[in-house]
Amino acid sequence: MTDDDAFTTTVHYEDDADSAHIEDKTVAVLGYGSQGHAHSLNLHESGVDVVVGLREGSASRAAAEEEGLTVTTPAEAAAAADVVSVLVPDTVQPDVYEHAVEPNLEPGDTLQFAHGFNIHYNQIQPPEDVDVTMVAPKSPGHLVRRNYEKEEGTPALLAVYQDATGEATDEALAYAQGIGCARAGVLETTFREEVESDLFGEQAVLCGGVTSLVKHGYETLVDNGYSPEAAYFECLNELKLIVDLMYEGGLGGMWDSVSDTAEYGGLVQGDEIVDDTVRENMEETLEKVQNGEFAREWIAENQAGRPSYTQLREAEKNHEIEEVGERLRDLFAWADEQEADTEKEQVTADD
Ligand code: NDP
Ligand code: MG
Repeated sequence: MTDDDAFTTTVHYEDDADSAHIEDKTVAVLGYGSQGHAHSLNLHESGVDVVVGLREGSASRAAAEEEGLTVTTPAEAAAAADVVSVLVPDTVQPDVYEHAVEPNLEPGDTLQFAHGFNIHYNQIQPPEDVDVTMVAPKSPGHLVRRNYEKEEGTPALLAVYQDATGEATDEALAYAQGIGCARAGVLETTFREEVESDLFGEQAVLCGGVTSLVKHGYETLVDNGYSPEAAYFECLNELKLIVDLMYEGGLGGMWDSVSDTAEYGGLVQGDEIVDDTVRENMEETLEKVQNGEFAREWIAENQAGRPSYTQLREAEKNHEIEEVGERLRDLFAWADEQEADTEKEQVTADD
């Protein structure tokens, strides 16, 4: 371990993981999407026995088989496995669990997740005699795969919800090593912390907060007579440059790189814009995540066929900034091609 004292949580690396905890086991990977393809290929190449579980008529079957993976149904995969890695979308996991997994779990098996939503909010209630673990790469699946191929790693979170065998942590760590994450660092957390911080982050800052900030900024300029093009560049396009600087060097790295005028103006006005009322709103958002209100709302929304979600998506698509952006981004088609690779690498929203 290196520099662990500097962290408030335990961080594991290659030396802490022992592949013996997984190499004699069969891992069923349910789903071959973003995370599923990466976990199954990485584990397979790490020498772990993998069987991919896909629904009848799955469009992914051919791709998985072409890579030399064994493919069967989710139920058969779960039955054959000691470790069942549930990597279908969170909204379909309860159904897949009920029909394919639960009837095929044996005492001592492991239910493994990459996000804790369904366990934390009791949408999946496993029997007491199985281990329940999470290895959640902090990155989209295609990067988990690409980093593995480059002999690099992807940081991940590890949590144990239920330890029936007494070996849940060791096995999860071996799984994390198998998908290449121990090369980068595996941070211990809990299901609760992973779920609540993840939902809060995407709602308040990453996805919700930042898009609303962009739209409000854009509307303020356009409503005051500035051109949509100028407003688009200022409030959306340049955000990438600022985020890149923060990604590389934190807030300080960004402040160092912008002009003194930008730094002074930003420091003075930032908290005026995102003021105490925003902070209070964030507390409310967090509360809804913590007390399960958001989860209940989202589950009901899915059960009802996503009526509000569809409307909100439509409204977002029809915002003027989207139309302006589409036209402007065409002017930069040359840059897009060059940057396609780097941009993909920088997508870090994790689910
Ligand atoms: P995807 O949406 O990429 O999963 C798609 C796969 O699930 C496909 O193979 C698809 O089958 C299968 N699938 C979809 N619906 C069904 C169904 N009803 N029955 C059976 N199989 C189905 O999922 P992700 O990889 O995005 O997410 C998996 C888990 O990983 C989630 O818990 C998520 O929160 C977590 N996670 C995701 C991250 C990400 O970057 N995407 C990052 C970290 C964690 P088919 O091939 O037949 O279409
Ligand atoms: Mg089994």
